[in-house]
Amino acid sequence: MLGAMQDWDLRVTHLIDHAARENGMREIVTRWADGSETRTDWAGIRRDALKMVQALRRLGVDKGDRVATLAMNHSRHLVSWYGAVGVGGILHTINPRLFEEQLEYIANHAEDRVLLYDAAFAPLVEKMKPRWTTIEHYICYDNGEFEAWIGAEDGHTEWAQGDERDPCMLCYTSGTTGNPKGVLYEHRSTMLHALVSLQPAIFNADPRAVMLPVVPMFHAASWGLPWGGAAAGIKFVYSAVNDPAVLCELMNREKVTHSAGVPTVWLSMFQHMDQTGETLPHLKTAIIGGSAAPRFMIERLAKSGVDVAHAWGMTETSPIGTTGAKTPDWDELDFDRQISIKQLQGRPPFGVELRCVDLDDPTKVVPRDGETAGALQVRGPWVIKRYFKAEEDATTPDGWFDTGDVGIIHPDGTLQLTDRTKDVIKSGGEWISSVELENAAVGHPDVAEAAAIGMPHPKWDERPVLFVVRKEGSALSSGDLRDYLADKVAKWWLPDAVEFVDDIPHTATGKISKKDLRERFSDYVLET
Ligand code: AMP
Repeated sequence: MLGAMQDWDLRVTHLIDHAARENGMREIVTRWADGSETRTDWAGIRRDALKMVQALRRLGVDKGDRVATLAMNHSRHLVSWYGAVGVGGILHTINPRLFEEQLEYIANHAEDRVLLYDAAFAPLVEKMKPRWTTIEHYICYDNGEFEAWIGAEDGHTEWAQGDERDPCMLCYTSGTTGNPKGVLYEHRSTMLHALVSLQPAIFNADPRAVMLPVVPMFHAASWGLPWGGAAAGIKFVYSAVNDPAVLCELMNREKVTHSAGVPTVWLSMFQHMDQTGETLPHLKTAIIGGSAAPRFMIERLAKSGVDVAHAWGMTETSPIGTTGAKTPDWDELDFDRQISIKQLQGRPPFGVELRCVDLDDPTKVVPRDGETAGALQVRGPWVIKRYFKAEEDATTPDGWFDTGDVGIIHPDGTLQLTDRTKDVIKSGGEWISSVELENAAVGHPDVAEAAAIGMPHPKWDERPVLFVVRKEGSALSSGDLRDYLADKVAKWWLPDAVEFVDDIPHTATGKISKKDLRERFSDYVLET
């Protein structure tokens, strides 16, 4: 027997229909790379997306076809999200910061048919054209090209219909080894993720929210904001450039209440604010994720009245996994304790299940005791089952996805991320968290960046070596730093050596690349 309620498939086009109908006049502001600004609204985004559906059909784009974008954050990019899925296609957001080999691989692997791109990436597109074998149509967002392309249509059409389990979006994740892997989201998974993302512990969004998402729309499904934002009817303020002066000016002029970005965004914002004395009086909520947010960052924002939600997630989890949800006793905790909790990666919302398994024996689930570290596994309706075009599932036989992260789960469900499985340092049979060492080191006022890796050791198997970029003009010594760390980490965690370097390698998504660091120091011999 089936239930007796209406058929209303969880397809993401419902989101834009709702936004246009209920919050149609809520603005979408774009500050373009050339300094100009445009304003549209949710009704305008829907109208243009329907025109784009017609324009795509004219190019022969059909159900299941991949429509790629190579673009920063702006209203035309938002139109394309809905236009691509509206024709029944699969939106493929490409990260322009990937290396050329990766760009070649993913567009060909995805079999993209159309590419929409920013004029700023035109030289890259020209260079890649001969290597991209499946793209038939190139459309530039700028110089009137996109507007002319959709402007030839009247928008009198319908969204493609289909099953809620149809795919709607494809995002590649560039692992540290091998080729990038595609994560194929479905309408249903995306819709459930969007609905959950609005709750207070995550984006805390309703139509009063004015959101400036600094996280680029090409990264990790841009935290689902173009979908969730439509459900809530929030006002978006986009900036096609990530210059802190521009961001600050926009945030204040448009009275931005919400922002979302990786921690490095805040480093440059703080620097700018320190130089100019500017403040952000309207900002109420900052969602920070993608890598660990340092304590001083959370503290500074909290002191200025901003509620920080520190989030953990990955491309494979759509990407929301956990956020800095408040614990039941939150209001009784003092400020310091609250900051300490926010520094952890938060708790999973309804829809995400977490567990940690033993690092040596993955059949053993480790207790949620706030002490035992294990390999973090996750499951839920917006978590990956199988990579795009892969033959085999990416999950364990009992349906869990192994994240590659190492974590500790506290008795109240709070996740504490301690490392990547590939990066933990094994010393004398015990695990040392490279991330905790790094976090402790960057707390030193003279340290700009730090990365810890395990180096072979004849007695202990591996011992930590800390690579440090000093702040300009600093004369910090290895001894100073070890003294500073002495009361911050266990004695046997103290690095055997501190090496000062000019720079630390990063991945295309801006994270420290331990793989490249290891390669750079492959001849390194630890003095014993
Ligand atoms: P990506 O799929 O590129 O977004 O990368 C996901 C990975 O980023 C995760 O598996 C974590 O290793 C890392 N990550 C994401 N959020 C956090 C966070 N809040 N703290 C520490 N690491 C994080």
